Amino acid sequence: MRNRVSILDAVREGKNSFSKKEIAQATKIPWGTVCKCVDSLLKEEHLFIRRFEPTKRGRPMIPMGIDPDSAFFAGFDVGASSTRLVFCDLLFNVKYRHEIRTPYYKNNSAFFKWVLKMFSDSLKEAGIDKKKLMGIGFSMSGNVDTERGILVSGRNWGVKWGANIPVADILSEHTGIPVFAVPATAAGVLAEYHFGKWKGYSNIVTVGLGAGIGSGIISNGELLITQPHRPIGYIGHMLIPDNNHICSCGFKGCLESYSGGIYLPLIGKEEIPEQPELHSAAALDLAAASGHAKAVAIMKKAASYNAVGIASMIQLYGPDVLIFYGGQCKKDGFLFNQTLKHVREILPQERLNLFEIGLTTLGDYQAAMGAARLAYERFF
Ligand SMILES: [Zn+2]
Repeated sequence: MRNRVSILDAVREGKNSFSKKEIAQATKIPWGTVCKCVDSLLKEEHLFIRRFEPTKRGRPMIPMGIDPDSAFFAGFDVGASSTRLVFCDLLFNVKYRHEIRTPYYKNNSAFFKWVLKMFSDSLKEAGIDKKKLMGIGFSMSGNVDTERGILVSGRNWGVKWGANIPVADILSEHTGIPVFAVPATAAGVLAEYHFGKWKGYSNIVTVGLGAGIGSGIISNGELLITQPHRPIGYIGHMLIPDNNHICSCGFKGCLESYSGGIYLPLIGKEEIPEQPELHSAAALDLAAASGHAKAVAIMKKAASYNAVGIASMIQLYGPDVLIFYGGQCKKDGFLFNQTLKHVREILPQERLNLFEIGLTTLGDYQAAMGAARLAYERFF
């Protein structure tokens, strides 16, 4: 991580009152570099000196704080059904949040017109000085080439494979602000690492059970970011031997082509054609909970598929915590609880003893927060 980012992280963690000496101890950055960086952060007015506190012995401690209003970061999260936007200040207080429905993708001009309007309307409403907005993190549901800032595909909202939309370049050209494009799974797990209940855990696996099924990974304190041809955390596309359904990716047998929230209605249609009222993921879940035999069978199968993917992530990454998020993760949901049950059955007890399991505490703005954090890490 860049020194100035690590230094402000340390001050923030130090209850926003930290001396150079405390910064050097916390960051392990050499003393000379700390002094140089702190001086420039003071000059740029991102840091300010709190009142002087004389100590009995040794070097005087001069506590410094971050001026939260000296810089802002935007975090977008374009999901398959909703798009969220947050503006965070330099202390990562959320100053503004907004959510609207994601329109089904038609073409680039309509898409960018819509994004830019949401951005400028929100900026105005939030009353944030654009000059202080230092970066935009742009998280998307789909395949993102973060190295080139390109959205390769977002099938769940209509962007076909190979669309290759240069999102970062176009948005930064129109806003005049640097943009970092990132897949939602990576943004979400980074938000957990910095802002969630299990903040600071070095090894985190998130599993999103929603329209599709995805996973994010923090390993040894590092965010792993998936690339189109180097997929990371793509548990939704693990191939399940006895699944004959065709996935939107083109392969047969992907986990999410049965268990994903947008596929379950199709399974319902296949298995229970006589009850159209059950052709939605939510209705199937409720029917299964009340003992409807066919719904139970569908959801148990979906849960067993989910569990194969999740248990594999645990085997591969040995997390300290497994965090669930997404529309199908309801505390009292049938599919969710069956999934947990299967995961516990598959994994040996000594493995289960090594990690916690929980639900995200960050709500719907998880990925948007992570995107804002990524903008800060890249552009501050
Ligand atoms: Zn697939």
